Amino acid sequence: MRPLKNILFLLILIPFLISISACSKNPYYKRNEFALGTVIQITCSDQRAIDIAFNEIKRVENLLSKYVSDSEVSKLNTSGKLKVGPDLLYVLTKAKEFYITSNGAFDVTVGPLVDIWKKAIKNKVLPQEEDIKKAMQLVGFDKVVIDEKESTVAFLKEGMSIDLGAIGKGYAVDCAIKKVRDNGTKSCLIAIAGDIYCLGNKNGEPWQIGIQHPRNKKDLLDALNLENQAVSTSGDYQQMVIIGNKRYSHIIDPRTGFPSDSKVISATVLAPDCLSADALATTIFVLGKTKGMDLVKYYKNTKALIYTEDEVNAFDTF
Ligand code: AMP
Ligand code: MG
Repeated sequence: MRPLKNILFLLILIPFLISISACSKNPYYKRNEFALGTVIQITCSDQRAIDIAFNEIKRVENLLSKYVSDSEVSKLNTSGKLKVGPDLLYVLTKAKEFYITSNGAFDVTVGPLVDIWKKAIKNKVLPQEEDIKKAMQLVGFDKVVIDEKESTVAFLKEGMSIDLGAIGKGYAVDCAIKKVRDNGTKSCLIAIAGDIYCLGNKNGEPWQIGIQHPRNKKDLLDALNLENQAVSTSGDYQQMVIIGNKRYSHIIDPRTGFPSDSKVISATVLAPDCLSADALATTIFVLGKTKGMDLVKYYKNTKALIYTEDEVNAFDTF
Protein backbone atom coordinates (compact mmCIF):
# COMPACT_ATOMS: atom_id res chain seq x y z
CA MET A 1 0.00 0.00 0.00
CA ARG A 2 1.14 3.54 -0.69
CA PRO A 3 0.96 6.45 1.73
CA LEU A 4 -1.83 8.72 0.59
CA LYS A 5 -0.98 11.97 2.25
CA ASN A 6 0.59 13.20 -1.00
CA ILE A 7 -2.40 12.06 -2.99
CA LEU A 8 -4.66 13.92 -0.56
CA PHE A 9 -2.67 17.04 -1.30
CA LEU A 10 -3.07 16.35 -5.00
CA LEU A 11 -6.78 15.79 -4.56
CA ILE A 12 -7.12 19.11 -2.84
CA LEU A 13 -5.22 20.71 -5.72
CA ILE A 14 -7.03 18.91 -8.51
CA PRO A 15 -10.55 20.24 -7.82
CA PHE A 16 -8.97 23.70 -7.59
CA LEU A 17 -7.32 23.22 -10.99
CA ILE A 18 -10.53 21.82 -12.43
CA SER A 19 -12.55 24.72 -11.14
CA ILE A 20 -10.10 27.13 -12.82
CA SER A 21 -10.20 25.30 -16.12
CA ALA A 22 -13.98 24.86 -15.80
CA CYS A 23 -14.34 28.51 -16.90
CA SER A 24 -13.76 27.41 -20.46
CA LYS A 25 -15.65 24.15 -20.01
CA ASN A 26 -19.19 23.26 -18.99
CA PRO A 27 -20.33 24.66 -15.65
CA TYR A 28 -21.34 22.26 -12.87
CA TYR A 29 -24.10 22.65 -10.31
CA LYS A 30 -23.91 21.23 -6.78
CA ARG A 31 -26.46 20.80 -4.01
CA ASN A 32 -26.42 19.08 -0.59
CA GLU A 33 -29.62 17.99 1.14
CA PHE A 34 -30.52 15.78 4.08
CA ALA A 35 -32.56 12.61 3.46
CA LEU A 36 -32.41 8.91 4.30
CA GLY A 37 -30.81 9.89 7.62
CA THR A 38 -27.72 11.36 5.99
CA VAL A 39 -26.27 14.07 3.79
CA ILE A 40 -26.79 13.67 0.05
CA GLN A 41 -24.45 15.44 -2.36
CA ILE A 42 -25.32 15.83 -6.03
CA THR A 43 -23.07 17.40 -8.67
CA CYS A 44 -24.50 17.63 -12.20
CA SER A 45 -23.90 19.29 -15.52
CA ASP A 46 -27.60 20.13 -15.63
CA GLN A 47 -29.42 22.03 -12.88
CA ARG A 48 -32.84 20.46 -13.60
CA ALA A 49 -31.34 16.99 -13.15
CA ILE A 50 -30.49 17.87 -9.53
CA ASP A 51 -34.19 18.51 -8.73
CA ILE A 52 -35.14 15.30 -10.55
CA ALA A 53 -32.61 13.28 -8.55
CA PHE A 54 -33.61 14.68 -5.15
CA ASN A 55 -37.32 14.11 -5.89
CA GLU A 56 -36.61 10.50 -6.80
CA ILE A 57 -34.48 9.91 -3.67
CA LYS A 58 -37.30 11.30 -1.50
CA ARG A 59 -39.84 9.06 -3.29
CA VAL A 60 -37.68 6.01 -2.48
CA GLU A 61 -37.16 7.17 1.13
CA ASN A 62 -40.94 7.45 1.60
CA LEU A 63 -41.34 3.84 0.47
CA LEU A 64 -38.33 2.10 2.02
CA SER A 65 -37.35 3.90 5.22
CA LYS A 66 -38.44 2.28 8.47
CA TYR A 67 -38.13 5.73 10.05
CA VAL A 68 -40.99 7.08 7.86
CA SER A 69 -44.11 5.96 9.72
CA ASP A 70 -46.32 5.36 6.66
CA SER A 71 -43.65 3.86 4.36
CA GLU A 72 -44.31 0.42 2.88
CA VAL A 73 -41.53 -0.97 5.08
CA SER A 74 -43.15 0.47 8.24
CA LYS A 75 -46.54 -0.94 7.22
CA LEU A 76 -45.00 -4.36 6.57
CA ASN A 77 -43.13 -4.29 9.89
CA THR A 78 -46.37 -3.44 11.72
CA SER A 79 -48.73 -5.86 9.97
CA GLY A 80 -46.39 -8.75 9.08
CA LYS A 81 -47.99 -9.09 5.63
CA LEU A 82 -48.42 -6.55 2.85
CA LYS A 83 -49.18 -6.15 -0.84
CA VAL A 84 -46.15 -4.14 -1.93
CA GLY A 85 -45.23 -1.97 -4.90
CA PRO A 86 -42.54 -2.79 -7.49
CA ASP A 87 -39.74 -0.97 -5.61
CA LEU A 88 -40.01 -2.90 -2.35
CA LEU A 89 -40.66 -6.14 -4.22
CA TYR A 90 -37.47 -5.65 -6.26
CA VAL A 91 -35.32 -4.65 -3.27
CA LEU A 92 -36.52 -7.62 -1.22
CA THR A 93 -35.90 -10.01 -4.11
CA LYS A 94 -32.33 -8.71 -4.37
CA ALA A 95 -31.96 -8.84 -0.55
CA LYS A 96 -32.97 -12.51 -0.70
CA GLU A 97 -30.33 -13.14 -3.38
CA PHE A 98 -27.59 -11.58 -1.19
CA TYR A 99 -28.88 -13.52 1.84
CA ILE A 100 -28.41 -16.75 -0.14
CA THR A 101 -25.03 -15.95 -1.75
CA SER A 102 -23.62 -14.72 1.59
CA ASN A 103 -24.89 -17.75 3.53
CA GLY A 104 -26.97 -15.50 5.76
CA ALA A 105 -24.32 -12.86 6.55
CA PHE A 106 -26.41 -10.27 4.69
CA ASP A 107 -29.89 -10.37 6.16
CA VAL A 108 -32.36 -7.48 6.11
CA THR A 109 -34.44 -9.20 8.81
CA VAL A 110 -31.80 -8.04 11.34
CA GLY A 111 -34.29 -5.26 12.24
CA PRO A 112 -34.88 -6.38 15.89
CA LEU A 113 -31.10 -6.68 16.48
CA VAL A 114 -30.41 -3.33 14.81
CA ASP A 115 -32.90 -1.67 17.18
CA ILE A 116 -31.21 -3.21 20.24
CA TRP A 117 -27.70 -2.18 19.14
CA LYS A 118 -28.81 1.29 18.05
CA LYS A 119 -29.98 1.86 21.62
CA ALA A 120 -26.68 0.44 22.96
CA ILE A 121 -24.66 2.79 20.75
CA LYS A 122 -26.79 5.76 21.81
CA ASN A 123 -26.71 4.97 25.57
CA LYS A 124 -23.18 3.50 25.55
CA VAL A 125 -24.47 0.46 27.47
CA LEU A 126 -24.20 -3.15 26.23
CA PRO A 127 -27.54 -4.91 25.71
CA GLN A 128 -28.71 -7.85 27.87
CA GLU A 129 -27.76 -11.28 26.42
CA GLU A 130 -31.38 -12.36 27.02
CA ASP A 131 -32.70 -9.56 24.77
CA ILE A 132 -30.21 -10.50 22.04
CA LYS A 133 -31.28 -14.16 22.20
CA LYS A 134 -34.97 -13.21 21.95
CA ALA A 135 -34.31 -10.88 19.00
CA MET A 136 -32.29 -13.58 17.21
CA GLN A 137 -35.36 -15.82 17.12
CA LEU A 138 -37.03 -13.18 14.95
CA VAL A 139 -34.12 -12.97 12.48
CA GLY A 140 -33.76 -15.01 9.27
CA PHE A 141 -34.78 -14.28 5.68
CA ASP A 142 -35.85 -17.93 5.44
CA LYS A 143 -38.87 -16.79 7.50
CA VAL A 144 -39.96 -14.27 4.81
CA VAL A 145 -42.33 -15.38 2.05
CA ILE A 146 -42.26 -13.35 -1.16
CA ASP A 147 -45.05 -14.03 -3.65
CA GLU A 148 -43.84 -12.30 -6.81
CA LYS A 149 -47.07 -12.98 -8.75
CA GLU A 150 -49.31 -11.52 -6.06
CA SER A 151 -46.73 -8.88 -5.05
CA THR A 152 -47.09 -9.82 -1.40
CA VAL A 153 -44.52 -10.19 1.36
CA ALA A 154 -45.26 -12.03 4.61
CA PHE A 155 -43.31 -12.76 7.80
CA LEU A 156 -43.65 -16.25 9.25
CA LYS A 157 -43.07 -15.05 12.85
CA GLU A 158 -44.83 -12.28 14.73
CA GLY A 159 -42.49 -9.46 15.74
CA MET A 160 -40.14 -9.76 12.75
CA SER A 161 -39.02 -6.56 11.07
CA ILE A 162 -36.90 -5.62 8.10
CA ASP A 163 -34.28 -2.89 7.94
CA LEU A 164 -33.02 -1.80 4.52
CA GLY A 165 -30.18 0.33 5.89
CA ALA A 166 -27.58 -1.76 4.06
CA ILE A 167 -29.18 -1.75 0.60
CA GLY A 168 -31.79 1.06 0.40
CA LYS A 169 -29.37 3.95 -0.12
CA GLY A 170 -27.71 2.11 -3.01
CA TYR A 171 -31.11 1.45 -4.54
CA ALA A 172 -32.08 5.12 -4.16
CA VAL A 173 -28.87 6.13 -5.97
CA ASP A 174 -29.69 3.73 -8.85
CA CYS A 175 -33.26 5.07 -9.14
CA ALA A 176 -32.07 8.68 -9.16
CA ILE A 177 -29.38 7.93 -11.77
CA LYS A 178 -31.98 6.27 -13.99
CA LYS A 179 -34.21 9.37 -13.84
CA VAL A 180 -31.23 11.65 -14.53
CA ARG A 181 -30.23 9.51 -17.53
CA ASP A 182 -33.83 9.55 -18.82
CA ASN A 183 -33.62 13.35 -18.62
CA GLY A 184 -30.73 13.21 -21.09
CA THR A 185 -28.07 14.22 -18.56
CA LYS A 186 -24.66 12.76 -19.38
CA SER A 187 -22.61 13.82 -16.38
CA CYS A 188 -23.69 13.55 -12.74
CA LEU A 189 -22.37 12.35 -9.40
CA ILE A 190 -24.86 11.23 -6.75
CA ALA A 191 -23.52 10.45 -3.29
CA ILE A 192 -25.81 9.31 -0.47
CA ALA A 193 -23.14 9.23 2.24
CA GLY A 194 -20.81 6.39 1.15
CA ASP A 195 -23.09 5.08 -1.62
CA ILE A 196 -22.13 6.77 -4.87
CA TYR A 197 -22.68 6.55 -8.63
CA CYS A 198 -20.45 8.37 -11.12
CA LEU A 199 -22.42 8.99 -14.34
CA GLY A 200 -20.22 9.76 -17.32
CA ASN A 201 -17.19 11.91 -16.58
CA LYS A 202 -16.56 15.48 -15.50
CA ASN A 203 -15.48 17.62 -18.46
CA GLY A 204 -13.59 14.70 -19.98
CA GLU A 205 -11.86 13.61 -16.75
CA PRO A 206 -13.00 10.72 -14.53
CA TRP A 207 -14.80 11.57 -11.28
CA GLN A 208 -12.42 11.42 -8.32
CA ILE A 209 -13.58 9.60 -5.23
CA GLY A 210 -11.54 9.46 -2.03
CA ILE A 211 -11.96 6.63 0.47
CA GLN A 212 -11.90 8.04 3.97
CA HIS A 213 -9.30 6.74 6.40
CA PRO A 214 -11.33 4.83 9.04
CA ARG A 215 -9.31 6.22 11.97
CA ASN A 216 -8.01 9.66 10.83
CA LYS A 217 -10.90 11.64 9.38
CA LYS A 218 -8.62 14.02 7.49
CA ASP A 219 -6.65 11.33 5.62
CA LEU A 220 -7.57 9.12 2.70
CA LEU A 221 -6.99 5.39 2.41
CA ASP A 222 -7.24 5.40 -1.35
CA ALA A 223 -8.33 7.53 -4.30
CA LEU A 224 -10.33 6.23 -7.27
CA ASN A 225 -10.97 7.56 -10.77
CA LEU A 226 -14.41 6.40 -11.91
CA GLU A 227 -16.77 6.69 -14.89
CA ASN A 228 -20.17 5.00 -15.16
CA GLN A 229 -19.59 3.00 -12.01
CA ALA A 230 -21.01 2.63 -8.54
CA VAL A 231 -18.91 2.62 -5.40
CA SER A 232 -19.97 1.98 -1.81
CA THR A 233 -17.98 2.02 1.39
CA SER A 234 -18.96 0.54 4.73
CA GLY A 235 -16.88 1.50 7.74
CA ASP A 236 -16.92 0.94 11.48
CA TYR A 237 -16.26 4.60 12.26
CA GLN A 238 -19.54 6.44 11.77
CA GLN A 239 -22.02 4.66 14.02
CA MET A 240 -20.29 2.83 16.84
CA VAL A 241 -19.58 2.76 20.53
CA ILE A 242 -16.42 1.79 22.42
CA ILE A 243 -17.14 -0.06 25.67
CA GLY A 244 -14.29 -1.58 27.70
CA ASN A 245 -11.76 -0.95 24.89
CA LYS A 246 -13.91 -2.87 22.39
CA ARG A 247 -15.51 -1.22 19.37
CA TYR A 248 -19.14 -2.15 18.56
CA SER A 249 -20.28 -0.96 15.12
CA HIS A 250 -23.69 -0.73 13.44
CA ILE A 251 -23.14 -3.80 11.22
CA ILE A 252 -24.52 -6.89 12.90
CA ASP A 253 -23.47 -10.49 12.38
CA PRO A 254 -26.91 -12.18 12.23
CA ARG A 255 -25.30 -15.46 13.25
CA THR A 256 -24.06 -14.16 16.63
CA GLY A 257 -26.48 -11.30 17.29
CA PHE A 258 -23.45 -9.06 17.99
CA PRO A 259 -21.77 -6.37 15.88
CA SER A 260 -19.47 -7.91 13.32
CA ASP A 261 -16.08 -8.93 14.69
CA SER A 262 -14.41 -9.79 11.38
CA LYS A 263 -11.46 -7.35 11.79
CA VAL A 264 -12.51 -5.52 8.59
CA ILE A 265 -12.73 -1.80 9.34
CA SER A 266 -13.31 -0.42 5.84
CA ALA A 267 -14.83 -2.20 2.83
CA THR A 268 -15.26 -0.51 -0.54
CA VAL A 269 -17.02 -2.22 -3.45
CA LEU A 270 -17.04 -1.08 -7.07
CA ALA A 271 -19.94 -2.48 -9.10
CA PRO A 272 -22.09 -1.70 -12.14
CA ASP A 273 -25.02 -0.74 -9.86
CA CYS A 274 -25.10 0.90 -6.44
CA LEU A 275 -27.60 -1.50 -4.84
CA SER A 276 -25.10 -4.35 -5.30
CA ALA A 277 -22.13 -2.22 -4.19
CA ASP A 278 -24.05 -1.18 -1.04
CA ALA A 279 -25.19 -4.71 -0.13
CA LEU A 280 -21.77 -6.26 -0.81
CA ALA A 281 -19.80 -3.66 1.19
CA THR A 282 -21.93 -4.40 4.26
CA THR A 283 -21.69 -8.16 3.68
CA ILE A 284 -17.86 -8.06 3.53
CA PHE A 285 -17.88 -6.52 6.99
CA VAL A 286 -19.64 -9.59 8.33
CA LEU A 287 -17.84 -12.23 6.24
CA GLY A 288 -14.31 -10.90 6.73
CA LYS A 289 -11.64 -10.31 4.12
CA THR A 290 -11.13 -13.80 2.63
CA LYS A 291 -14.76 -14.90 2.34
CA GLY A 292 -15.76 -11.36 1.40
CA MET A 293 -13.31 -11.36 -1.53
CA ASP A 294 -14.63 -14.78 -2.63
CA LEU A 295 -18.18 -13.43 -2.69
CA VAL A 296 -17.14 -10.34 -4.68
CA LYS A 297 -15.41 -12.58 -7.27
CA TYR A 298 -18.71 -14.41 -7.77
CA TYR A 299 -20.27 -11.16 -9.09
CA LYS A 300 -19.30 -9.93 -12.57
CA ASN A 301 -17.50 -6.58 -13.05
CA THR A 302 -17.27 -6.13 -9.29
CA LYS A 303 -14.15 -5.30 -7.29
CA ALA A 304 -13.42 -4.71 -3.62
CA LEU A 305 -10.86 -2.82 -1.54
CA ILE A 306 -10.91 -4.30 1.94
CA TYR A 307 -8.86 -3.05 4.88
CA THR A 308 -8.41 -4.75 8.23
CA GLU A 309 -7.31 -2.99 11.40
CA ASP A 310 -3.78 -4.46 11.11
CA GLU A 311 -3.41 -3.35 7.49
CA VAL A 312 -4.49 0.20 8.30
CA ASN A 313 -2.02 0.34 11.21
CA ALA A 314 0.81 -0.98 9.00
CA PHE A 315 -0.15 1.54 6.32
CA ASP A 316 0.12 4.41 8.83
CA THR A 317 3.65 3.50 9.88
CA PHE A 318 4.82 2.98 6.28
P1 AMP B 1 -24.10 0.08 5.58
O1 AMP B 1 -23.85 1.38 6.27
O2 AMP B 1 -24.54 0.17 4.15
O3 AMP B 1 -22.97 -0.89 5.74
O4 AMP B 1 -25.35 -0.58 6.28
C1 AMP B 1 -25.43 -0.73 7.68
C2 AMP B 1 -26.88 -0.77 8.09
O5 AMP B 1 -27.49 -1.97 7.57
C3 AMP B 1 -27.07 -0.85 9.59
O6 AMP B 1 -27.19 0.45 10.15
C4 AMP B 1 -28.36 -1.63 9.70
O7 AMP B 1 -29.46 -0.78 9.47
C5 AMP B 1 -28.28 -2.62 8.54
N1 AMP B 1 -27.59 -3.88 8.85
C6 AMP B 1 -26.74 -4.16 9.89
N2 AMP B 1 -26.24 -5.39 9.81
C7 AMP B 1 -26.77 -5.96 8.69
C8 AMP B 1 -26.64 -7.23 8.05
N3 AMP B 1 -25.86 -8.19 8.55
N4 AMP B 1 -27.34 -7.46 6.91
C9 AMP B 1 -28.15 -6.50 6.40
N5 AMP B 1 -28.31 -5.29 6.95
C10 AMP B 1 -27.64 -5.00 8.07
MG1 MG C 1 -24.43 -1.22 2.57
